[in-house]
Amino acid sequence: MFEYAPAPESASIVDIKPSYGLFIDGQFVDGSGAFKTINPATEEPLAEVALADAGDVDKAVAAARKAFKKWSKLPGKERGKYLFRIARILQERSRELAVLESIDNGKPIKESRDVDLPLVAAHFFYYAGWADKLGYAGFGPDPKPIGVAGQVIPWNFPLLMLAWKIAPALACGNTVVLKPAETTPLTALLFAEICQQADLPPGVVNIVTGAGETGSALVNHPGVDKVAFTGSTEVGRMIARSVAGTNKKVTLELGGKAANIIFEDAPIDQAVEGIVNGIFFNQGHVCCAGSRLLVQESVAEEVLDSLKRRMATLRVGDPLDKNTDIGAINSAEQLSRIRALAEIGESEADRWSPPCELPAKGFWFAPTVFTGVTQAHRIAQEEIFGPVLSVLTFRTPAEAVEKANNTPYGLSAGVWTEKGSRILKIADKLRAGVVWANTFNKFDPTSPFGGYKESGYGREGGRHGLEAYLNV
Ligand code: NAD
Ligand code: MN
Repeated sequence: MFEYAPAPESASIVDIKPSYGLFIDGQFVDGSGAFKTINPATEEPLAEVALADAGDVDKAVAAARKAFKKWSKLPGKERGKYLFRIARILQERSRELAVLESIDNGKPIKESRDVDLPLVAAHFFYYAGWADKLGYAGFGPDPKPIGVAGQVIPWNFPLLMLAWKIAPALACGNTVVLKPAETTPLTALLFAEICQQADLPPGVVNIVTGAGETGSALVNHPGVDKVAFTGSTEVGRMIARSVAGTNKKVTLELGGKAANIIFEDAPIDQAVEGIVNGIFFNQGHVCCAGSRLLVQESVAEEVLDSLKRRMATLRVGDPLDKNTDIGAINSAEQLSRIRALAEIGESEADRWSPPCELPAKGFWFAPTVFTGVTQAHRIAQEEIFGPVLSVLTFRTPAEAVEKANNTPYGLSAGVWTEKGSRILKIADKLRAGVVWANTFNKFDPTSPFGGYKESGYGREGGRHGLEAYLNV
């Protein structure tokens, strides 16, 4: 591999404060306690963040309720102006946000700068455009907002998940209380500053920080009309149980175990890039990651040789370095989960990683591939949520479809083949919310996203994503 001189992005563009408050009713206020967020690449503490207890959540919900009266009555055109303003500030401050995201989350700057931030702004622009056209969205001539949305998001795409949740909610006339993940609260708090900068009326967006208890207090609060959650299937199930029997509307976006299916007529070099992007993008911290490779037997050897050569060129290390491909694992807990499943995998199948030196401090996991995997293996069934790929082979298209569908999940899949007719035929049979053809992990605000089976219910993004925030 070529050796490059270090090319770190300067961290001086962000001003990380020693401590952060909760954002309630347009103001930063103290919480009932505090916790630390760390840089997963160095294990250094970054800041103290206020911890919201049930009382703080109550204040945030009350602020959102009060703000709803005016916000929901504002003409869509006026709400749209606020969203356009937020979108433009996000663009202006995108370098700052990208650096902060990489520091708090561990993802490579290449991704936060070139993927996350452009998509974040695009979501706000897209839903800003809908705000005054809701009567044409197919939900009746004058659809009404639901009320106060309680939104809980994970740590893998902190700002992008915030955008997926907040932009459509506000466009439809709802107000929100959002809880970011406890390991990645900082960009949400910077977003709160952007709401102030945009003169968004107080209480329309409230941000409460904390861990599972704070999230639970939010989704169970009687003043919340709509719950939106992205995270683990386990917590998603708990939320589904607790809102059952209430009037709350709920959307859940949970796990995945996507198959990336490579047929023998696929453009192999392009497919290998797609496999790498599918599973090693964002350290595999992606619910729709292509974590299972299904490759046709006749080309399996060729694909694997080429994949291993490509994996040997991936650079693991400093998230702020512009050449880094794989950054830090987000937390010690996540690293131990990945390690535990990889160890189980080692007893089931053949493990391989390229030689790669990992930094001494911080949370790191080398890109890993398992071959000789069968459908019964745990690494073929369970979500690992790390840079770990399980490889299975197939002989016929029917076998590929059967294996691809054989998981409790159904979020996404990929198909690689030269034949357009085969793409359509296979995509039709895959029980997955998104099927990418000759590409992988491509996102666009106009395109709905969501899953089948244990991957959750409801859609986010696109026109479909409006439905979750309207009384229809
Ligand atoms: P998690 O589901 O515990 O956390 C997601 C969010 O939910 C966080 O903000 C968390 O504070 C909050 N939360 C936790 N318990 C809650 C509760 N009882 N009520 C309300 N909110 C609650 O996920 P995790 O522990 O960070 O990760 C565990 C596994 O989940 C990962 O290994 C991965 O497999 C999966 N995961 C999936 C996604 C996804 O995008 N679908 C995201 C993160 C994690
Ligand atoms: Mn952190």
